[in-house]
Amino acid sequence: MNPVLTAVAVLALGAIAVAAAAASRGVTPQLIAEHPTKIVPGGPRPPPTGRRTLMTEQNAPKMKVESFNLDHRAVAAPYIRLADRKELKSGGVITKYDIRFTQPNVAHLESDAVHSIEHLFAENSRSHSDRIVDFSPMGCRTGFYLILDGESEVDDVMDLVEATLNDILAATEVPAANEVQCGWGAHHTLEGAKSAIEPFLAARSEWSRVMA
Ligand SMILES: [Zn+2]
Repeated sequence: MNPVLTAVAVLALGAIAVAAAAASRGVTPQLIAEHPTKIVPGGPRPPPTGRRTLMTEQNAPKMKVESFNLDHRAVAAPYIRLADRKELKSGGVITKYDIRFTQPNVAHLESDAVHSIEHLFAENSRSHSDRIVDFSPMGCRTGFYLILDGESEVDDVMDLVEATLNDILAATEVPAANEVQCGWGAHHTLEGAKSAIEPFLAARSEWSRVMA
């Protein structure tokens, strides 16, 4: 067979195969266009269009993790907010607070300061409350999560945080900053921790305002 005719025949067969595959999927552009963007609250999302769009409250997929559903552009750090409340299968309730030191995607804390605040807060907060479950840094280094046993008034949580941070300002050493008690005993800075805490404490009157 003539090579040119052979090439034409191959291309034609390819086009037929693509059309057949599209038909077998039962999805046509017209079908999608009939149901373009109708969003039912809590219902299924419309199919993706294949076009990159800016994530908004309306089109962001609902995530399992509470903070992944928070628009981090809309908050005004520093603040403290109730992030989550979980009824335990074994009984009881735990509550999780978002203690935000710096404005997300604008500023973050240094890693060694975060580490020392974690140690200092974890140890000192337990002098003020027997309901501390956990205090941990956020991976983005803009703040910390405090998990408490039971329900709390957010004002009481703020008082707990304030008292603990004042303890840290008065501290003379970082507890457990050694190779026996910590996974990176050299990675600490008491002065860096205090420098990060000072502006957060100075904005105490603004902690209850979460959104910009
Ligand atoms: Zn450590």
